[in-house]
Amino acid sequence: MSQASFDFDLIVIGAGYGGFDAAKHAAENGLKVAIVESREMGGTCVNRGCVPSKALLAASGKVRELANAEHLAGFGIHSAPVRFERQKIAEHANTLVAAIRNNLTKTLERSGVKILRGEGRLEGLQRVGLRESSGVDRIITSKDVILATGSDPFVPPGIQTDGRTVFTSDEAINLEWLPRWIAIIGSGYIGLEFADIYTALGCEVTMIEALDRVMPTFDPDLAKIASRKLIDARDIDARAGLLASKVTPGCPVKIELSEVKTRDLVEELEVDAVLVATGRVPTSKKLNLQSVGVETNRGFIPIDDCMRVLVDSKPIPNLWAVGDVTGKLMLAHTAAAQGTVAVDNILGKKRKIDYRSIPAATFTHPEISSVGLTEAEAKDLASKEGFQLGSVRSYFKANSKALAELESDGLMKLLFRKDTGEVLGAHIYGLHAADLIQEVANALARRLSVEDLVCEVHTHPTLSEVIEVAYKQAYRQLENKVSSLN
Ligand SMILES: Cc1cc2nc3c(=O)[nH]c(=O)nc-3n(C[C@H](O)[C@H](O)[C@H](O)COP(=O)(O)OP(=O)(O)OC[C@H]3O[C@@H](n4cnc5c(N)ncnc54)[C@H](O)[C@@H]3O)c2cc1C
Repeated sequence: MSQASFDFDLIVIGAGYGGFDAAKHAAENGLKVAIVESREMGGTCVNRGCVPSKALLAASGKVRELANAEHLAGFGIHSAPVRFERQKIAEHANTLVAAIRNNLTKTLERSGVKILRGEGRLEGLQRVGLRESSGVDRIITSKDVILATGSDPFVPPGIQTDGRTVFTSDEAINLEWLPRWIAIIGSGYIGLEFADIYTALGCEVTMIEALDRVMPTFDPDLAKIASRKLIDARDIDARAGLLASKVTPGCPVKIELSEVKTRDLVEELEVDAVLVATGRVPTSKKLNLQSVGVETNRGFIPIDDCMRVLVDSKPIPNLWAVGDVTGKLMLAHTAAAQGTVAVDNILGKKRKIDYRSIPAATFTHPEISSVGLTEAEAKDLASKEGFQLGSVRSYFKANSKALAELESDGLMKLLFRKDTGEVLGAHIYGLHAADLIQEVANALARRLSVEDLVCEVHTHPTLSEVIEVAYKQAYRQLENKVSSLN
């Protein structure tokens, strides 16, 4: 097929963050682009993820602050008992979602992207099947196709959801009611953020984690300190090493807790509601990937670092995949970055993604963030490449700004090579950790050494000085220092 005979230069299936950035970037670079979306424009992030959850966290965070009489008294402030309206908080999230979805849709239209409503699938290479809600089914051709169909909540076997008493984050973000006692299954970032919201709004939480410690995906040292404030100090009963093997919706919701290995019943709980936050699964079943010979890895589409879809580990022409459906660092900004990388490659500018410099954040109060390698990964790399791993800790309790805010609970861990000084990773728990991590991410993207970073001047008094202190400590541990700064 000659290029001129295609309906489009690029069809993107899925208008989440990944699809949006890809389509916009391609249209702005002169390609004729269509985007196919079967649900709301904006995907998980805008409608059921980042945006509404951060709106709920912002509102509930204010309630938490105003209700913390002891903290306020430290400033000499005494406020009246705090009152809040659940429905208004929910409306704040809904209004924000609608505004951002609207802006995103208009941005695409203004860029000249054709929005096609319906479910997309492949019908071989360079051919997309589109089933509209009216039932009309047609084939559209495109020189290139990007798959950006995202992910959906994973509900483990044995757990029944009804969307009202047992639900996932898809429903939780509507904040339709506040259960007196809610069990949250999973202590990853979604479980933690909702525990933050619910406890701030007066709910009692039982957190159930199948792995042997809560917050298993976080740096263990950070998790130890963070869990004191985010879990132990709150109305949360955390149960690690137990499997919620059966959950039956109703009033009350019944939960069977079992031994992870033996599956022996340990305990039965009756609660008002259950939030299932046990991870996400790729949305790839309906894509008809077999029409192009793609075999998925548990549903995730295999790709290379240019976002080309792989068959038998080799890229196939004109087919790309980005975002959660590829299973790499399942975050909105990863999806967006992958989208622009895919389009740059389509435009002939060969570019690879750098996953190591993509930061991640959990927006609890206080926040947790990370970028680069975990300590375990860095240790592996050190033994493989034969260098000494450096690790330093910088504490918020030595930071003037944190002390002024009476928020000095926090820690940053910086990982680096002792021979070259190259920054390998950073993990932060503390006030505004999500914003702070960006500075280290930028350094990591350039593979900078603490030797380069140690002379950079940070504004005083700011939380960023926590990072400056870490760079200075790391510099002192370098094997071959050039300057005498310390
Ligand atoms: C509660 C929660 C909070 C989160 N908070 C954050 C956060 O703070 N920061 C962050 O970076 N990430 C966050 N995430 C993760 C983030 O939402 C996802 O990583 C991101 O949305 C992935 O984008 P995507 O484009 O890959 O997929 P999605 O956003 O899932 O979009 C995929 C789109 O494709 C559509 N689609 C699927 N199949 C088809 C088909 N066959 N035809 C047509 N359309 C189709 C879907 O309807 C959907 O609109 C959060 C997620 C959740 C659930």
